[in-house]
Amino acid sequence: MNEIIKNLKKTDSCIQRLIQTRSLLEWDQETYMPEAAIGGRAEQIALVESLIHERITDPKVGESFDKIGVNDDSPEGPGNLEKPDRSFLREMYREYRRNMRLPKELVYKIARQASLAQAKWAEARNASDFNIFAPDLKNLINLACEKAECLGYDKDRYEPLLDEYEPWMKPAQIDEIFSKLSEKLKPLLVQIMQSDKKVDDKIIERKYPVAKQREFGISVLKSMGFDFTRGRLDISAHPFTTTLGSSDIRITTRYNENYFNSGIFGIIHECGHGLYEANFSKGIQGTLLARGTSLGIHESQSRLWENIIGRSKSFWTACFPVLKRLFADVLSDVSFTTFYEAINAVKPSFVRVEADEVTYNLHIILRYNLERELVSGNLSIEDLPYAWREESKKLLGIVPERDSEGVLQDIHWSMGAFGYFPTYTLGNLYSAQFYRSMQNEIPDIEDQIKNRNLEPVLCWLKENIHQYGSIYPADQLCLKVTGENLNPDYFIDYLTGKYREIYEF
Ligand code: MG
Repeated sequence: MNEIIKNLKKTDSCIQRLIQTRSLLEWDQETYMPEAAIGGRAEQIALVESLIHERITDPKVGESFDKIGVNDDSPEGPGNLEKPDRSFLREMYREYRRNMRLPKELVYKIARQASLAQAKWAEARNASDFNIFAPDLKNLINLACEKAECLGYDKDRYEPLLDEYEPWMKPAQIDEIFSKLSEKLKPLLVQIMQSDKKVDDKIIERKYPVAKQREFGISVLKSMGFDFTRGRLDISAHPFTTTLGSSDIRITTRYNENYFNSGIFGIIHECGHGLYEANFSKGIQGTLLARGTSLGIHESQSRLWENIIGRSKSFWTACFPVLKRLFADVLSDVSFTTFYEAINAVKPSFVRVEADEVTYNLHIILRYNLERELVSGNLSIEDLPYAWREESKKLLGIVPERDSEGVLQDIHWSMGAFGYFPTYTLGNLYSAQFYRSMQNEIPDIEDQIKNRNLEPVLCWLKENIHQYGSIYPADQLCLKVTGENLNPDYFIDYLTGKYREIYEF
């Protein structure tokens, strides 16, 4: 048994290095690669992807699982072992089974098409012309459907796609969570919009020089515990985090000189992801357990930092004086309250990443509804921009005029990532539930944050979440950390409390 596990770990170790290599190629594509290099880059990424597929589907891997009698991918893992080996075999078997069902040619095609489509998407977004991207998107949807058919499902083709990002979660669970959530979000939004108290957020659109935004961002990253000897901050069209090794965490943001929120909240958000990636326990580093246990849990880390801490009164009590000194010309006439309210202003808007905390999840529900329809074949690519506008009207009450502010705004579909969006909302829900537990365990946490001491926050997250990587599946981790299953009420309570104070209703 030990010998077999040792061999599987060797295979995994090689696969993890290939994954890191692919991540480096992707990181470079999104940051510094010259435009014309895209053709060659797509081939390189597809080759590495097929090498990964080759390793995981090696007949020796299958023989190993046969010998030790591992043949299902239940969340518990093989019963005769202790953690983390038990979790290791569970995750490795999931990867093996998944890949065995996918022909190598399909894996290559998807990786190549996704890389090419990302470049087309960027071109289409700049021109705000959906037609430039439509043929590539059509290919990607067809490939995603083909992939889902290979992977198999019970009721719904969307199942295996969601499962890739949020293991073991079913579309029916998402449906239930989302309908409960939107039932409560809509009246909250109405209360805010109808309040007599109006928040003026014009100061966010003053001119904030990029160099100073970066300087401030770096100081925030340092106080969050981001280690620049083990990571970098760069610029990309769409902020992201990637891990090139246990001591090489890359985060990106985008700055907008006339919109303060973009740069700083992108930085705080991605740093939340980066800290998770940087703090897996030594014993699992370099293995497939050294990754977020689900994208929902990963996103809970970024959203907890970005919103619950990064947009809180306590955080800005500590940081606003620093910001005001740095942007003396821009903010000299701005009070703390004006600033705090401006960064938290609620209003339906077109762009998801710049949405406030209340309307954000309506953006996700919009995308979820559309991708369910695309994958089931009920919605054609030709009708997608129209369907987007219709959903936007229904959920947010506004209709984007330009595709760049509508259907073309997000990179995900161009990466072939269908089933990814709902994890953002799960992240918001988990973040509020986790933070409640943190508050219970560290009663003076708000005072610590007010004093710009963010160390207790990071320590708590390391101890309760980061160190485990994917040893525990998301629902087990949630139960372990908070004593109950995922419960959207924590998020609703958090939003209601915060915005009732700001909007005085
Ligand atoms: Mg994120």
